[in-house]
Amino acid sequence: MSQETNATFEQIRQALERTTRIGIASHIRPDGDAYGSALAMGLYLRACGKEVHVWNDGGMTSKFHYLPQGTMVTAPPQTPQDFDAFLAVDTSTKERLGSVLQAVGNVKTWINIDHHISNHRYADLNHIAHAPATAQVIYDYLRFVNAEITQDIAVNLFVGLSTDTGSFQYRGTTSHTLRVAADLIEYGVDIAAISREIYDNYPRRRLELLGALLNDAHFDCEGRAAGFSLTLETARRLGVLPEDNEGLIDHLRSVEGVQVAVFFEETPEGKVRVSMRSKNVRFNVNHICGVFGGGGHALAAGARLSGPLAEAEKKVWEVVCHEIRKHD
Ligand code: 5GP
Ligand code: MN
Repeated sequence: MSQETNATFEQIRQALERTTRIGIASHIRPDGDAYGSALAMGLYLRACGKEVHVWNDGGMTSKFHYLPQGTMVTAPPQTPQDFDAFLAVDTSTKERLGSVLQAVGNVKTWINIDHHISNHRYADLNHIAHAPATAQVIYDYLRFVNAEITQDIAVNLFVGLSTDTGSFQYRGTTSHTLRVAADLIEYGVDIAAISREIYDNYPRRRLELLGALLNDAHFDCEGRAAGFSLTLETARRLGVLPEDNEGLIDHLRSVEGVQVAVFFEETPEGKVRVSMRSKNVRFNVNHICGVFGGGGHALAAGARLSGPLAEAEKKVWEVVCHEIRKHD
């Protein structure tokens, strides 16, 4: 039973109150917001005395070792489990829960808390907010229920907020976002220490990967679109992990004149993961990725296409350039 209108925080509070066993999960290829939001809710519900299971398709990745109580996130088990409630955070479609879906048996109430405009409203209770990060919505929820915001919860939320706003640069960042961040600092976030962990602690191979990608960066539509592609061959040669390329696309977007940046990645399954960024709302990458069955936000979105890489590139460039030239 999906619904067009948002479930209220009160409805979600009541649904969670009557449960004993709760599952929480977020999207495949998790980012700071996916993990931070899931962990914050997991820690809060555990403190309420609930039996809480926090899963992610990829388990906990080493890159996010600094998230407080990060080991609470595990890969889903082999056999399906039943829950009184299952909460998906930061996840626009049920499919984006990946292998978690096969591990979820009977669920009395599905709850969906998210900030993606493309969210499919696949749960019984959907709360899709206009916010730059799901972590901000979770913070608002925790304040609504008068939760004790521990330092661990605060740090997890801050990581989600900082990473999804591009360190408070993106357009979704409001005065409320900065007030939430200020509150989180009061709840114990050491902003310099956590920012060092997030932004100044990449493995050297990430820089080597950037070098390889920049070597054959491609500019199109009179320099208004830029892209690069990561082949399986390069990934193997440099020994990169899937999470190493996160954020590299920002180097393309940051070039003067570039409106849309595109990153292509060959996956071992023979698919092509496409990541897109825009710095102009006229060029809506949620819409462009939607053409290929993907989605996300107006200025940051993604999709998965079938291979081979060269064919996917050709299809995507056509749509990107068409979108850009439409406004000429
Ligand atoms: P990223 O490029 O960092 O992987 O993702 C940017 C945004 O687009 C995120 O909000 C992410 O959830 C969304 N996104 C990425 N890939 C896909 C996809 O294949 N399908 C959908 N629906 N959204 C995606
Ligand atoms: Mn998010």
